[in-house]
Amino acid sequence: MSFWNCEKIKTWVPEETQLWLGLVLALLLLTPLTLPAQQRFNGAAALEYTRQFVAIGPRWPTSQGHMKAEEFLRNHFRHDQLEEDAFTASTPIGPVAMRNFIVRFPGKKNGVIVLATHYETNYWLKNINYVGANDSGSTTGLLMAIGDQLRAETARRKTLDGYSVWLVFDDGEESIQPAWTDSDSLYGTRHLAAKWARDGTLGKIKAFILADMIGDKDLDIQRESQSTDWLVALVRQAAKKFGYERYFFKQDEQVSDDHLPFLRRGVPSIDIIDIDYGPNDSYHHTAKDTMDKISAKSLTIDGDVFMETIRLIDQR
Ligand code: ZN
Repeated sequence: MSFWNCEKIKTWVPEETQLWLGLVLALLLLTPLTLPAQQRFNGAAALEYTRQFVAIGPRWPTSQGHMKAEEFLRNHFRHDQLEEDAFTASTPIGPVAMRNFIVRFPGKKNGVIVLATHYETNYWLKNINYVGANDSGSTTGLLMAIGDQLRAETARRKTLDGYSVWLVFDDGEESIQPAWTDSDSLYGTRHLAAKWARDGTLGKIKAFILADMIGDKDLDIQRESQSTDWLVALVRQAAKKFGYERYFFKQDEQVSDDHLPFLRRGVPSIDIIDIDYGPNDSYHHTAKDTMDKISAKSLTIDGDVFMETIRLIDQR
């Protein structure tokens, strides 16, 4: 007996409601077929982490906000394999205490994929209440949400199926003085790349993937021209899988960023960056870099592409 042949229901439920019930039932039955094969990344969670992190306020090296930012990361990853890499940077204002955070999710395959972002704001912007919602806030939130997904995968299967994935939240990417120079910038990644060269870690790294300024609502990720070709191709392939081609690599741009210390030491590296932020780049390194300029949608696109890129590297 089918549901609709039951006379009791037919007389009890008005005809119009029967039609609606039928539609709802049909939708429920069809839902598993119409959902995408793969669950999309939780960009809303990444945005919420960003909101909490940015609410700390400015977080330039030596500030109270920087200490709170460190505490925020320490607390969030307290149940994970977290390493704090404290060091002293020689800067134009003298020695400055800095700290990288490394979170490790072990994998079955021998080798490591590093996902990185800086997390501090610019020392030279300390007088304008600069919170860097996009420039380091958004990618800090992104990597935290990626961490949630990796944690869930490792909990289910003990380890990741592919390579180990390490999240790096590095300090001192921004220059201390307004003018960017090779010696006044990239403090955290220069320190970490040198340390990992000394202890042999560098040889295990299959890919170094950097996220920078990609929470922007108006997402337009450039092809950073020094980045390793095969990694660019893989990211392009990952974007294509989700129909995200229009957000990726329409323009070439050469950017000095945290991937360089690794690239220069022979590690395949890519900078996934949208350096064009606001009309005529007017939000970049200004007090306009606030939460209203970034979106969960952009973070979903980023997360989908990062997770798929990891999968493609694992298969390579
Ligand atoms: Zn910046």
